[in-house]
Amino acid sequence: MPLLFKGVKELRNHINSIRKQEKASVGFVPTMGFLHDGHKELIRTSKLQNDLTVVSIFVNPMQFGEGEDYDRYPRDLDRDLAICEEEGVDIVFAPPVEKMYPEGFRTEVVVKGIEDILEGKFRQGHFRGVATVVLKLLNIVNPNRAYFGEKDYQQLKIIERMVTDLNLPVEVVSVPIVREEDGLAYSSRNTYLSEEERESALSIYRSFLLAQKLIKNGNLEAENIKVAIREFILSHPNVKKIDYVEITDENLNRKDIIESGDRILVAVWVGNTRLIDNWKVEV
Ligand code: AMP
Repeated sequence: MPLLFKGVKELRNHINSIRKQEKASVGFVPTMGFLHDGHKELIRTSKLQNDLTVVSIFVNPMQFGEGEDYDRYPRDLDRDLAICEEEGVDIVFAPPVEKMYPEGFRTEVVVKGIEDILEGKFRQGHFRGVATVVLKLLNIVNPNRAYFGEKDYQQLKIIERMVTDLNLPVEVVSVPIVREEDGLAYSSRNTYLSEEERESALSIYRSFLLAQKLIKNGNLEAENIKVAIREFILSHPNVKKIDYVEITDENLNRKDIIESGDRILVAVWVGNTRLIDNWKVEV
């Protein structure tokens, strides 16, 4: 069984004492729980690269806006602990909200310029919540390396920026998107989808394959590719709306002419579920 900690001090003392005794390297995987194969890939990568792997499970209220799914977000600590055991995780940190945000909490981390585009436009304040909690978690766990999925590409870029700007002594390691066999990117939110909605959600991955084919055939104008993606996804039932389809370089600057390494980023509502996904383009 992984060791479970709910308190900040207890976790810190434990990690510090192991570090002193063994000079162990610590890998850290922050999550919101309801673990799936995407999370497992982060855990496996950390286990390969470190002596000790710490997973945090915390549904962070600060990164959810009003009317978003904070209350209904799936939670099951026992299930997550069993998965962590199977994966050989050493330590699980699962603090209650009041330990992370005690009364009087007032600080926000703002990564200017990247936090208010794309996702940030549709989820105001989201990335302040993310950056703030990740900085707190990094300060609490004090890992050598921290693992983030490309599934949340903008989040990854914001964390990388924050770590550089604030001279945090941690190496950010990114892990490619893990997809189900039919192409749907693993997400804890997939549990919201009905069978029919899940089928429609596959249009996201398929739109990337379509775009990739068009690009390989020499269609390099971002505008045309974005239109093709939109039309394809919207032609499926249950797709309520598209928040954005964007094509950017690897640093999230909008592109007009597509080059290798650019990213297609989308956010799509399927029924009442908001899904995000992205694709690295090859020309
Ligand atoms: P979450 O629990 O959704 O906050 O995700 C925790 C971490 O797992 C984040 O760094 C995510 O980017 C990463 N992650 C979530 N889904 C996937 C996936 N399908 N493939 C790779 N990484 C993922």
